[in-house]
Amino acid sequence: MQGDFALHHNALERIGIESVPVKTPSDLDQIDGLVIPGGESTTMSLLINTYNMFEPLVRFGMSNPVMGTCAGLILMAEVVNDDRIDPLGLIDIVIERNAYGRQIESSKQKVEFVFSENHKIKLSTTLIRAPRITRLSDDIKVLGEYNNSPIAILSGHHLGLSFHPELDEIDIFHQIIFDKQSEFYFKKIEHLDVA
Ligand code: GLN
Repeated sequence: MQGDFALHHNALERIGIESVPVKTPSDLDQIDGLVIPGGESTTMSLLINTYNMFEPLVRFGMSNPVMGTCAGLILMAEVVNDDRIDPLGLIDIVIERNAYGRQIESSKQKVEFVFSENHKIKLSTTLIRAPRITRLSDDIKVLGEYNNSPIAILSGHHLGLSFHPELDEIDIFHQIIFDKQSEFYFKKIEHLDVA
């Protein structure tokens, strides 16, 4: 509906997954996974409600993989510290918007991600007025942290990122949540103990 969805189409194309824009409830019938991109979460929330997408998105998310980046992560949360946002409640977390302060309103950070014992990868990630996860339930796996806060989390078939992998052509997170062929596909790593 809004935000940098175009670069996610590119990422999905790179890993061989067909993607279509989603703007109306019936668009959800065409797909079996969803990316909620970065952008402006207050605008997105308004559009979701205006186009009667709230209930359909919650229903879709119950049984299908969903990945949210930045503003998308904000929308997937249970609680957000901004009452202009009606979060979908797909992941049991509390979010503080724009929480990382001025100096990193936009910045690149080297972060080590731990997907399993044998899979640790350092990636340069882009944070843009990023949200901070201030609370998360015990069953959520933290895949990466910045400044002692989680910035990549996996909660069942839901993946939330504070940063923008699509800007740096990092495809591993799309693979984790959507690519059944990938060794990183969440069903293959979910039994492993992640930090
Ligand atoms: N600050 C934005 C918001 O709260 C998120 C920024 C982003 O998606 N890069 O919606």
